[in-house]
Amino acid sequence: MDLALLDDTLAAAGEPAFRARQVWRWAANGAAGYDAMTDVPAGLRDRLRSEVPFSTLELVREAHASDGTVKALFHTHDGRAVEAVLMRYRDGRRSICVSSQSGCPLTCTFCATGTMKFGRNLTAAEILDQVLHFRRIEPVDHLVFMGMGEPMMNFGNVIAAARRLPDVGITHRRTGISTVGWVPGIRRLTETDLPIRLALSLHAPEDTLRSQIMPVNERYPLAEVLAACEAHYERRRRQVFIEYVMLAGVNDGYAQAVQLAQLLDPRIYKVNLIPYNPTDSVYDGSSRNAIDAFKAALEEHGLRATVRLTRGRDIDAACGQLAAKTAAA
Ligand code: SAH
Repeated sequence: MDLALLDDTLAAAGEPAFRARQVWRWAANGAAGYDAMTDVPAGLRDRLRSEVPFSTLELVREAHASDGTVKALFHTHDGRAVEAVLMRYRDGRRSICVSSQSGCPLTCTFCATGTMKFGRNLTAAEILDQVLHFRRIEPVDHLVFMGMGEPMMNFGNVIAAARRLPDVGITHRRTGISTVGWVPGIRRLTETDLPIRLALSLHAPEDTLRSQIMPVNERYPLAEVLAACEAHYERRRRQVFIEYVMLAGVNDGYAQAVQLAQLLDPRIYKVNLIPYNPTDSVYDGSSRNAIDAFKAALEEHGLRATVRLTRGRDIDAACGQLAAKTAAA
């Protein structure tokens, strides 16, 4: 729901200031539409229905995986693809992964979104409407900006959306922003007053390999990115999560684990090893054994590491996969 348009429409209708909050509260609590808003006068509900679309996104496809993961593909009013995922965990956690851009201007070589054409930044409303879509299915409590796009390149809209998340049931502490290491964005996050988790997609322990996997490293090399993360930690005192996609024979060797452990201060960083979700790229994912050995090598050198649970593999849940397939079909 476009909240600025809502404000304007309510003002034009001569409605009191509390109406916008009232409508938003219904939406944030999972109302299916204006009809559900029983304390909003019926005439006003009719007017809102025709002037303020209940969602800025149109659902195009929804895929349900056997593990409970739900992936949604939407289109914006101008036909841009947007993907979001709901992950359900056994301990009851409900975590949403949202997109910040349609497509992505960066060209990480292993990522399906990186091969798509860049569309545009999503508005704050388009980001929130991904969340509300799942909130209408069930209560949700965690969120990560790990869908399509680079959130730090759309910082203003990402933070504007994040500010509304507690109303939907997602605190800032349970919100995370994942970045390729877009240094100006990391610095801006450090300056905000919100205790949002910072996650860095690292994927290599040194510049040559990292530039090969992620060309953005040419612009913001490792030392600069890690310095920004360390400044973030100094100011916020929250650990930075490192994402490391495991690519067979590329970044998963013992020596690379040792190099990674030497690079990262264990007080500041925790590593999350990500099994590669195969796309049409040149890479193969590391075997389970290789991932376990890499994790053991990190821990033996004092760096904490976890292996990410793979979710929704049967529904093309990796970044950009659903949108890329639908575009190709
Ligand atoms: N641009 C941001 C957020 C989007 S990607 C970033 O790069 O951090 C979210 C995470 O998914 C990143 O760590 C990215 O490297 C990872 N990813 C992308 N494609 C993947 C794939 N096919 N398999 C596993 N992880 C993938």
